[in-house]
Amino acid sequence: MPTQPNNSHLPFGDHKNAPWYGKDIISVKQFSREDLEYIFAVAHEMHVMVDHVGTFDLLKGKILASLFYEPSTRTSSSFTAAMERLGGSVIPINEVKYSSVSKGESLLDTVRTLECYADVIVIRHPEVGSAAQAAKAARKPVINAGDGIGEHPTQALLDAFTIKEELGHLDGLTVTLLGDLKHGRTVHSLARLLSLYKVKLNYVAPEILRMPAELIDELKAKGVEQTEYTTLDQALPQTDVLYVTRVQKERFTDEAVYESVKGAYVIDPKVMKAARERMIVMHPLPRVGEISPEFDDDPRAAYFRQMEYGLYVRMALLAMVLGKA
Ligand code: ASP
Repeated sequence: MPTQPNNSHLPFGDHKNAPWYGKDIISVKQFSREDLEYIFAVAHEMHVMVDHVGTFDLLKGKILASLFYEPSTRTSSSFTAAMERLGGSVIPINEVKYSSVSKGESLLDTVRTLECYADVIVIRHPEVGSAAQAAKAARKPVINAGDGIGEHPTQALLDAFTIKEELGHLDGLTVTLLGDLKHGRTVHSLARLLSLYKVKLNYVAPEILRMPAELIDELKAKGVEQTEYTTLDQALPQTDVLYVTRVQKERFTDEAVYESVKGAYVIDPKVMKAARERMIVMHPLPRVGEISPEFDDDPRAAYFRQMEYGLYVRMALLAMVLGKA
């Protein structure tokens, strides 16, 4: 007899009526607190299964088209790993310059092409709203892997899952978002998602990279306590989660302006002396100087663990939209 683990207790199977079957994932605005609890539970089971068996055949025969118009290391490779760990396969289009996009093909025609071959499409594109447009044109589920400075919903889900796994809960936490809050799509999505919980948000950014006023107003209307700072020292001692971001060089038209703000904050062991003993430092990565490698061995440095949580969350999302969770 084959030695398959008994996973009848797991929330896996064929559930064509499952709430997320066939759905697109475009914005964190789609999610309720209950949805998050469900995603966290499935992601947790994915973690258990990967630890036990590494790869299993939940999505055997399914194909993911992975379409990236902007650079990516973690998002694209973790979606690929997620699909392959679930027994599925991937059409990778990471360098659109080698596809018909370089001949002038539109995003929508590219998406219509890929859905002829794949069951789900993951897309990253520099324009805000591009994933929503693609989803409108496509019959197959589309997952937004970053639309310019808009949103990065799967990153926010993995960020929230990281906080839950590392600190045990989200309610009652003080989360400090640091860096390029103007252009950072990860912080836009994360702040919105955290507004489902009773959190206090601190925003620390140079004057020209402040959190967009519309987003602050949106969260204010939901009753979220938010405070803005230009330096970290006041916010750090009360912080449970310090979420550091890179200044998004590719969003600047004037390089001199980028140079003037790029080194605004550097997290290192000395700075972190002012922080709590039990707290975590996160970063969506890549880092380009905002966190000193000298801090990497500190138990509070959660940014490498965060990448791994991303695999389990993306496995959960793929299983959900393909009706298997
Ligand atoms: N990897 C993240 C993103 O795609 C963060 C970053 O690039 O700074 O948004």
